[in-house]
Amino acid sequence: MSTARDTATISDDALGDEEWAREVRRWATRRDAIILAHNYQRPEIQDVADAVGDSLALSRRAAASDAAVIVFAGVAFMAETAKILAPDRTVLLPEPRAGCSLADSITADQLRAWKARHPGAVVVAYVNTSVEVKAESDLCCTSANAVEIVNSVPASREILFLPDQFLGAHVQRLTGRDNIHVWMGECHVHAEITPQDLRERVAQLPAAELFIHPECGCTTTALWMAGRGDLPPGRTRVLSTGGMLEAARTTTASHVLVATETGMLHQLRRANSATRFEPVNPAAQCPYMQMITPAVLLRSLREGTHEVNVDPEVARRARRSVEAMIAVGAPSRGE
Ligand code: SF4
Repeated sequence: MSTARDTATISDDALGDEEWAREVRRWATRRDAIILAHNYQRPEIQDVADAVGDSLALSRRAAASDAAVIVFAGVAFMAETAKILAPDRTVLLPEPRAGCSLADSITADQLRAWKARHPGAVVVAYVNTSVEVKAESDLCCTSANAVEIVNSVPASREILFLPDQFLGAHVQRLTGRDNIHVWMGECHVHAEITPQDLRERVAQLPAAELFIHPECGCTTTALWMAGRGDLPPGRTRVLSTGGMLEAARTTTASHVLVATETGMLHQLRRANSATRFEPVNPAAQCPYMQMITPAVLLRSLREGTHEVNVDPEVARRARRSVEAMIAVGAPSRGE
């Protein structure tokens, strides 16, 4: 026998695109809700949202909004970060199973053990981490400001950098520091964008530009390759979300190969219909991002599912490192 929830899902799935979008907007108004969608969400979710961007930009938007409810169409650590910055607001994550393989690659217990082996070291955590790991960290960073954050630490201090090994290696190269210890985590989606994929696609489209996206919270295999000089210079551009969108508007290339999760292509194609934007690896889709379906988003608005709560003391400790991240790297840098 169908439950009420099953019935709701079936009827929501049966809605046409326009009817669904009208329903979403109607419920958003009724709930006094703002809908924030990550760049890697499905195109229809991006199109119905109040704001689209990366986790940091959306967290800033969450903190600045006076809406009573924040619906975060993204993954769990992003909704947690929004809750840290907007503790008095109701934050909803439409699908609570929407996690992140990179964030899962280190736990707070593992970090405490690592710190114990390096007393006095400064912990720099990428934003793709749980709130508990952020609470154990000194500074949080994105890939756009990771180098600046690391450079803000006195050269004599050891640094524990986590959890992305590719971003860590990139930061080591750019800062020239030999006292950075890097956690060997990775995002399974970006790990699938292999050096072979890149070389094959560049060989197929030799006139194409290459955009490598260093964010989404994910530092990628592609970023690592670019740092090593394995990709052709001059046509390889490492760009943040804003930088990528800006470059998309102004490029005169007929083709641009994009090395990141494929959801980003939607915003790039909207920005410039004269250039063809193609994925380096079309299979680079985040299964967690895909969990937010149109029906799941509508149900979240209608039923208030699923509220994100963070222990106030953990949030207080995590907020220090998150606020340090926000302070370094202005929004104009296109994060
Ligand atoms: S693409 Fe990778 S880093 Fe980004 S949310 Fe998905 S699993 Fe996490």
